Amino acid sequence: MAQGRETVVDITEVSDLRSRADDDPHYIRLLEAEVELLTNKNQKLIQLINTQDKQAREIETRLSTHPKTGLSNHNRMNSELQSIFDNEADLSTIDQFALIIIRLDNKFDMVTKTLKSTVSEWVLYQIAGRINEIIRPEDQVFHTRDDEFVVLFMDYADADELKTMLSALNSAVVKPHLFSGYHIVIGCHIGVSIYPDHGLNRSTLLHNADIALEAAIQHQKPCKIFKDEMREVVIEKMELQNNILKALEAQALAEMDRQFELFFQPLVRINGIAEDSLFIERIDAEVLIRWHHPEKGLVMPDKFIPVAEETGLILPMGNWILYRAVQYLEEWDSGPLKDVVLSINISPKQFRNDQLIQNVIRIMKNRPKAKNRLKLEITESCVMDDPISSIEKMDALREYGVKFSVDDFGSGYSSLNYLRKLPVSSIKIDKSFINNLEANRQDRAIVRAIIAMGNELQFDTVCEGVERYTQLKFLVDEGCKIIQGYYFSKPQNEAGFRSFVSDHAAGALGIDLISRRVGTL
Ligand code: C2E
Ligand code: CA
Ligand code: CA
Repeated sequence: MAQGRETVVDITEVSDLRSRADDDPHYIRLLEAEVELLTNKNQKLIQLINTQDKQAREIETRLSTHPKTGLSNHNRMNSELQSIFDNEADLSTIDQFALIIIRLDNKFDMVTKTLKSTVSEWVLYQIAGRINEIIRPEDQVFHTRDDEFVVLFMDYADADELKTMLSALNSAVVKPHLFSGYHIVIGCHIGVSIYPDHGLNRSTLLHNADIALEAAIQHQKPCKIFKDEMREVVIEKMELQNNILKALEAQALAEMDRQFELFFQPLVRINGIAEDSLFIERIDAEVLIRWHHPEKGLVMPDKFIPVAEETGLILPMGNWILYRAVQYLEEWDSGPLKDVVLSINISPKQFRNDQLIQNVIRIMKNRPKAKNRLKLEITESCVMDDPISSIEKMDALREYGVKFSVDDFGSGYSSLNYLRKLPVSSIKIDKSFINNLEANRQDRAIVRAIIAMGNELQFDTVCEGVERYTQLKFLVDEGCKIIQGYYFSKPQNEAGFRSFVSDHAAGALGIDLISRRVGTL
């Protein structure tokens, strides 16, 4: 062990020197002083090494033993079990071994909660001692959780020997524990898996022993050895758990419904402008979320979406938005909103989440009217982070009739090369190019180029943030088909959007009329 630059010196070497010192008393005194100094130094160093060794051992012990019984803990159990499988030479000499999980029943829990902690510690200590007495030198026992012990019963002869061991272990636990006037009886359940029949690696063996334990608990039996059929029992239980989660989810959805609302802003597809009339071919909508905060009142998405994105809450929130939007599509099965396609903003974290495809499919399941009426708006940068997997994801969703649109186009990478490869049906030109269209020649040039390119690549180009007729006229003249902005309507709740569509769908509108309408909004 290297402790700085000083090392322990062998003092006998110094004593040898003394014998060669020709009885010179001065030299002898010097040497004696030297020896004393070195002896002191050595003692200090040895002490230091010992304490450091002790500390290292203490840390190691703390990490690998259970503090209440001093038995090896779950860390040690995992590494020991793993090392059995890692060492092929040893494994080949083992015919079979059993992994035995012993879980104390709820009486132990009661003891812990109702009596002094020394009582439950005493009980654990006694159980550990009793198990240690039963097992053979080649077996191992671990104290994996407060109420759980694991025994590795190595290379036993036959099923009878295993049975005998299991019943001995059971008796070791259930035998009454006497402790200063207390007479405590604790029960247990035991789950067993056997190598090689029930698993050829650590995790399968542990998993199957757990399943057997679960079965023993469910059937109120002291002990169960793993069987394949037990899996179904456990799966059934997992399904129940899923149902509980769904019920909780339903509660969360109800809460979201109370405070959040979807607004809709029309996406107006224009067929042409002739004299003072504007021909509208169809109206779809972008979904924009609004938060009716119990104290703050209306909160806009610019305020809370970035926070939700940062904290990960965007995932449940995004699911709610999808769920609610699909529900609207399902409800709008007749009347003016029958064919409306909804564009939904998908935040980068939501898009990157592995569950996106599953979530969309789950939400659309049994809601057939949503098919081909859902478009997801994603930003360029979100796709460009990992274009290949993004394209795969988009392709998978397109199979389910989901379309894609690139939002805020022009504000990010604008990789035209990739844009060609993306399975998107529309691109939405970023608002910032539209704001000053009339005054800014450069913006006009960019917008003109994007529209031309979009048309060439057969994307629908959408322009958002259109507030004035002059902007609209320029864009439509350049070949942009779909316009979104305050010129037509601000985002509105469902009722407002419905009346906008009823008033304007599939008709020719006098431009003055629209201008006046916008003026009153
Ligand atoms: P965005 O996707 O670019 O949405 C367009 C924003 O421009 C909306 O703001 C809309 O109200 C506003 N807008 C539309 N027309 C005009 C116009 O003519 N003039 C002006 N000045 N603004 C116009 P909003 O609703 O405040 O949403 C802001 C952003 O919050 C959205 O930008 C989007 O990134 C995010 N967001 C909104 N709803 C959702 C949602 O449901 N999910 C996610 N992930 N993000 C959302
Ligand atoms: Ca958007
Ligand atoms: Ca946008």
